[in-house]
Amino acid sequence: MPLDSVIQVALPVPLPGCFDYRLPAGTALPPQGARVRVPFGRRTLIGVVHGQQPSDLKKLKAVEQVLDDDSVIDPPLYALCERAARYYHHPLGEVLGFVLPALLRQGQPARAGGEVRWRLTDRGRHVDPQRLQRAPRQQQALTLLLEHPKGLTPAMLEALSVSRPALQALRDKEWVERVDLDIAAPPPVKEVLAEPALRANQEQRAAIQAINDRQGFHPFLLDGVTGSGKTEVYLQAMAPVLAAGKQVLMLVPEIGLTPQTLRRFRQRFAVPVTVLHSGLTDRERLEAWLAAREGRARIIIGTRSAVFTPLQTPGLIIVDEAHDSSLKQQDGFRYHARDLATWRAQQLDVPVVHGSATPALETLQLARAGRYGWLRLTRRAGDAAAPAIELLDARAATPDTPLLPASLAAIADTIKKGEQALVFLNRRGFAPVILCRDCGWQSECPRCDSVLTWHRSEQQLRCHHCGHQQRLPNRCPGCGSSNLIDAGAGTEKLEALLSETSQAPVVRIDRDTTRRKGSLDAKLAQIQKGEPAVLVGTQMLAKGHHFPRLSLAVIINMDAGFLSADFRGPEQAAQLLLQVAGRSGRQDRPGRVLMQSRHTDHNLVQLAAAGDYHALADALLDERRGAGLPPFGYLALLRCEAMVMNQALGFLEECVQALPTVEGVHVLGPVPAPMEKRSGRYRAQLLLQSNNRPLLHGLLDTLMEIARALPSGRRCRWHLDVDPIDLL
Ligand code: ADP
Ligand code: ZN
Ligand code: ZN
Repeated sequence: MPLDSVIQVALPVPLPGCFDYRLPAGTALPPQGARVRVPFGRRTLIGVVHGQQPSDLKKLKAVEQVLDDDSVIDPPLYALCERAARYYHHPLGEVLGFVLPALLRQGQPARAGGEVRWRLTDRGRHVDPQRLQRAPRQQQALTLLLEHPKGLTPAMLEALSVSRPALQALRDKEWVERVDLDIAAPPPVKEVLAEPALRANQEQRAAIQAINDRQGFHPFLLDGVTGSGKTEVYLQAMAPVLAAGKQVLMLVPEIGLTPQTLRRFRQRFAVPVTVLHSGLTDRERLEAWLAAREGRARIIIGTRSAVFTPLQTPGLIIVDEAHDSSLKQQDGFRYHARDLATWRAQQLDVPVVHGSATPALETLQLARAGRYGWLRLTRRAGDAAAPAIELLDARAATPDTPLLPASLAAIADTIKKGEQALVFLNRRGFAPVILCRDCGWQSECPRCDSVLTWHRSEQQLRCHHCGHQQRLPNRCPGCGSSNLIDAGAGTEKLEALLSETSQAPVVRIDRDTTRRKGSLDAKLAQIQKGEPAVLVGTQMLAKGHHFPRLSLAVIINMDAGFLSADFRGPEQAAQLLLQVAGRSGRQDRPGRVLMQSRHTDHNLVQLAAAGDYHALADALLDERRGAGLPPFGYLALLRCEAMVMNQALGFLEECVQALPTVEGVHVLGPVPAPMEKRSGRYRAQLLLQSNNRPLLHGLLDTLMEIARALPSGRRCRWHLDVDPIDLL
């Protein structure tokens, strides 16, 4: 008599470890990565099979349903999930749940829509429905199927109210069969190129060759200044991979994938390009996921979570703008897609290319140490010349005149020449704060340690951290004075100021002006037309776009990043600065970049303005080496939020008390977070640092056990952030 087997199931619950379930005798053992439906407490959950457990405990609850005969999460993807769950100290079941498309998480079949059909067998076709008079439901089903010789999909059967048990009965009689019709795979293309490639220059050729010479895993840093033709390198390195029938996975930043880039990929190749973005419906996402899994999708482009796309015939992984912070997930499962891309490539044994004009110091250090192949593009492709950044002393700028006369003159000049100018300010709204002239009151968020931004056109004060909004008071809540003024400038004020003086239309691009679907595309299209215009925008404008008629970029108020107390501040400021500067003068038109700064004599500001990212990186890497900061040291942050600060600090303090001392791992804190209050909650944190990663991770395992067991942890919210990029 066959014994029940016991399987381990990873469930999407915030608890570590897997759960054991009994598999009723006679049920085929589902492989690792297949889904099952199981009872859990009073609920029913869908989980993923982890393995088999040599045990015959009869007390266990039984699996309700096995949903897949085959792994939905294939072995290499499963291995990646396991490694990520361990590294980020996140429950495996939650990681697997995160990776599954929503419809699979909800238990829908892992099959592309319309694939399954029910139809009559040869025998069934010769059955007279009259024979089924005593089974009217079966008779109805048979009659309908006789009328539809090609068969009916489950959706059609449901629309025609055909009963499932009746179909089963007919199937048992072998009159009806269920067939899986393959979605027609696209016919194999002989020639993957739909248009000829550009003539690669020498640096590009060397990079392409280095990538294509590699069989198997090899990581590369493609370190190329903006406009040096990195995209062209990707395209040409992809061609032989696609021609060999393999797939390419490319990760892009959240807002980096512009319609132009996509068009370039679609124009170049005669194979389907599948895009995974946040605008997809659940059904579309599932279809794209399955198309990748079944090898029908050949080029898969997506944002960070696309690193978890299953691939049938992987050939190459590309991470574009690999320094971009949007590759790190900042809530829930806090993974870094840049690092996972490399692990993935290792597991799949394919090359991975990290491309950037301003590589993250972590990646740069790997290249310097010889662990990543270092491919450099030092010049702009084609005829474009690199822009020079001129520093302007901005101490004379005021809240009402944020643009210096020299900047205004340069903008007017650009418009007169029939070209486009960009004014970059990474702060939306009209003014960052409202002040009372008489008593010094300022518009503060009641829920955060932060001020409220004045959005003039909506007549509202808004918190950019928690979303709180309120009307502007007529009089000062502090002293009753009506002497309220706005201080500082945001993009909305810049737009208003420039509209008064500019001879050309002013186009503002930030989150406020692009909220409506299609509005960003419309604005970009307007800019692409190439007529003279002044563009005003936040970092939304900084990345990936190619504006052929743009010849001036004015950058205001970037000092904060360079002077920031956060060790990543200067790196991020320099990356953003050079990205913005790179928008200017990209085609046969020399670009000009003006940077207004109140700290023109600051070493890092000067290095960044000199456009020499590598010199700046040298300086920053030296500092970090001395301080044991990444990439030389490793960090993890245990954050806690509670209704009162003492509760948050108390929980972390209890963790520290219970934590063994490990030589080589430094535990700093607990301390209140730099932003103590956010969304009405008080925040505290505990920082762990070590130059030895395994030591740190060993201690993190212990820390997580302690934190999970502490009763005080249930009265607050806490999480661990491994390799945090935001220490606020
Ligand atoms: P990046 O991705 O490094 O910013 P792109 O690949 O977008 O740079 O290239 C910038 C511009 O240079 C594009 O207009 C592109 O068509 C052009 N370009 C790239 N490589 C070449 C080349 N080898 N010859 C001529 N033009 C090129
Ligand atoms: Zn006042
Ligand atoms: Zn707030």
